[in-house]
Amino acid sequence: MSTRELTSGSEILDRLGVRPIINAGGPNTKHSGSKPRQEAMDAMSAMSEVFVNIDELLLAAGKEIASLVGAEAATVTSGASGGLVVQAAAAVSKDDPAIIERLPDTSGIPNELVIQKPQRFVYDHLYLTPGTKFVEAGDASGCTPDQLKSAISPNTAGVIHLESPFRNRGTVQLPQAAEIAHAHGLPLLADGASMLPPRDNLRKYVSEGADLVSFSGGKAVRGPQSTGFLIGKPEWVEYARLVNAPNATIARAQKVSKEEIAGLLAALRAFVDENEESETESYRRDMEMVLDRIVEIPGIDASIQHNYDHYIPHVVVKLTDSWRGPDGLELARRLMLGEQRVYVVSGYIGDREIWVDPLNIQPGELEIVAARLHEELVKAAGE
Ligand SMILES: *Cc1c(COP(=O)(O)O)cnc(C)c1O
Repeated sequence: MSTRELTSGSEILDRLGVRPIINAGGPNTKHSGSKPRQEAMDAMSAMSEVFVNIDELLLAAGKEIASLVGAEAATVTSGASGGLVVQAAAAVSKDDPAIIERLPDTSGIPNELVIQKPQRFVYDHLYLTPGTKFVEAGDASGCTPDQLKSAISPNTAGVIHLESPFRNRGTVQLPQAAEIAHAHGLPLLADGASMLPPRDNLRKYVSEGADLVSFSGGKAVRGPQSTGFLIGKPEWVEYARLVNAPNATIARAQKVSKEEIAGLLAALRAFVDENEESETESYRRDMEMVLDRIVEIPGIDASIQHNYDHYIPHVVVKLTDSWRGPDGLELARRLMLGEQRVYVVSGYIGDREIWVDPLNIQPGELEIVAARLHEELVKAAGE
């Protein structure tokens, strides 16, 4: 056997001239997602030693995911985003081979997806990949059941529902949206990618009536960054599988390797086995440590938040009316400068807030995060 010299991650970055970051901003794709569990890395390496028929592997992996999460059926996708493409395609093609083959050509067949206007979101154009179109229901301030119903026509293929922080206030909630879709013979296609933990959500949306729910394998599940999975009703999971890679379809570019499939299964098994209460407690203790360092700084309102909008305990720093320093975007930019670059959540929550998300903070980094935050806030408070 040849001996290999293992190269560390920082050596690889050094050679490329790219500087690492401390990730206190959660599983954002542009900042590397999350740290894959050791179980996932081991499974990927082990899987690289064998060959298999990918269709057979995907069917078996889907069964295993379903049994792990206590659902009827599931299948693997390329990220939660890949799941959105496949959901939309499945709504149009179902199990019709001729339609599966001709997508994104949807001429002459129902190709509209109804979406509640306040639920429009940054990734929603993925739903348009298979030649589909949106019909918006309601307006920016909300959507009523009647508005949702009246957006449905003979040309509708499905109804979309987003479960995500800050996105479904004033909208028709999932159980009722599913009822409306089903009354018209349509599937309810849900995106739950940002809603894990709590682990209960793995089952919740399907039990509330969703036909397909898209989740990410590369966020808190901590599988390979490129993976995701759909959970749902058996017939709809099968339609999704038929139109997904490795078949020569609209989703062929979304292939997931056998190594990634094995990594996802291992990560998901570890994720569902974890004790959520002690995990939450540990995140909360970490966030209390950060909070203690900054809570006295004048002009800010800092607290720990763990609720629908914050999937695990976060430190939320709000800039109050008495704050005279720069806005949240500028604070986040400054935290990314210097010797130790710290990435925090900013931007999509407006320019008066920054958040610290503990998911990706590695042992030894918490102190640095607290110190850098303290340093930049104190400096900015004096400006
Ligand atoms: C993260 C996210 C996605 C994309 O998930 P990937 O696994 O990164 O593709 C889609 N929708 C929502 C609501 C998300 O939060």
